Amino acid sequence: MSIANLRLGIDIGEVGRDMYRFISEVFPICRSITGNGIRKTLNIIKNHIPLTVSEIPTGTQVFDWIVPKEWNIKEAYIKNSKHETIIDFRENNLHILSYSVPVKKKVSLRELKDHLFTLPEYPEWIPYRTSYYKENWGFCVSHNQFTNLMEDDYEVMIDSSLEDGYLTYGEYFIEGEKADEILISCHICHPSLCNDNLSGIALVVFLAKCLRRQPLKYSYRFLFIPGTIGAITWLCLNEPNVSKIKHGLVAACLGDSGEFTYKKSRQGNAEIDRAVMNALRNSENNYKIVDFTPFGYDERQYCSPGFNLPVGCLMRTPHGQYPQYHTSADNLNFVQSEHLGESFSLYLSILSILENNRKYLNQNPKCEPQLGKRGLYQAIGGQKHEKSRELAILWALNLSDGGNTLLDISDRSGLKFDLIKDVTDILDKQGLLKLCEK
Ligand code: ZN
Repeated sequence: MSIANLRLGIDIGEVGRDMYRFISEVFPICRSITGNGIRKTLNIIKNHIPLTVSEIPTGTQVFDWIVPKEWNIKEAYIKNSKHETIIDFRENNLHILSYSVPVKKKVSLRELKDHLFTLPEYPEWIPYRTSYYKENWGFCVSHNQFTNLMEDDYEVMIDSSLEDGYLTYGEYFIEGEKADEILISCHICHPSLCNDNLSGIALVVFLAKCLRRQPLKYSYRFLFIPGTIGAITWLCLNEPNVSKIKHGLVAACLGDSGEFTYKKSRQGNAEIDRAVMNALRNSENNYKIVDFTPFGYDERQYCSPGFNLPVGCLMRTPHGQYPQYHTSADNLNFVQSEHLGESFSLYLSILSILENNRKYLNQNPKCEPQLGKRGLYQAIGGQKHEKSRELAILWALNLSDGGNTLLDISDRSGLKFDLIKDVTDILDKQGLLKLCEK
């Protein structure tokens, strides 16, 4: 039991629009690495897939780290001496330095400025800043708002809490034919930012939603976790089962108009790396392949030397390489349903390759079998059409010595994986190939 092509019968345009609608729904929520924003987001995801939510108490030791206090925020503002609100968290949740401790006091302009963060290069945008592991308070404001501030007494108010609580994450598992797993992971800790990383969350939700309706060879594990600390926590608590993960992808930055970027796993030549490169080569999209680096998203944890899992990161424009990154300009105008749909389609192509990658053994290995009498070769020689199909048959027969997978044959022949798979199905039915490894 396996799947012809995971993309069959799926309206990619419609999925892209559904992903965009999902992003619009969760966009206003103020998320951080812990707290109610994550819970609210996971509850919305539960409308699509049956998620298991875990709550890990503050203080839990996870490898070299400790689960931090839980942070929540109700309200925050800056008022001038005329009691006019000049910065309001309700207008944009990026205004607050994430993990700001509670504060309510009068400050001079000078003291206030020590707690303001701006982006002078883009004076209309609000930056996104955090202070998870050092207690601080602050506001992020546009540089224009900053330069308009006059000498005055300001009232700053942050109604937040930083207390013992929990780190929350969501997980969804689909059981396939095999216990071997494919891991798809995304971070869910950013507030109102679309490309980084509501696009990744949307992709994982809709991928899971699509796969749960199909027969699958692999089992799938989808993780919705806060960046860094979430991956560390999950790996620490699930260490005994981690060896089941045979392939993995971290999904991030998938809604912008940029070309695809695949960051290889630390192993560099794992089946996932080859499947992604094969799918990209045979797609109509422009793309770039980059080697593993120990910075970026949660592939850093999955690919730490103690795990060294075959997990790559598939993005469009990478983090930090678009000006809107970590600013208020990474909003609902920056991501588009068309690009989200393309990303979704690419992920499905990659999973189709992994699901269908197998080895066959040629049952007639001494010289070529006569294809014409089996209706596999055109009767009139010399015609151009059907050429690639016949080439695929010849490649599949020649390389099916029990050592090459369909991915090997596709890579070596330069022919599309789907075509190689189609012809091997036919050759199998004709008795010319025999499946030797699933
Ligand atoms: Zn980020």
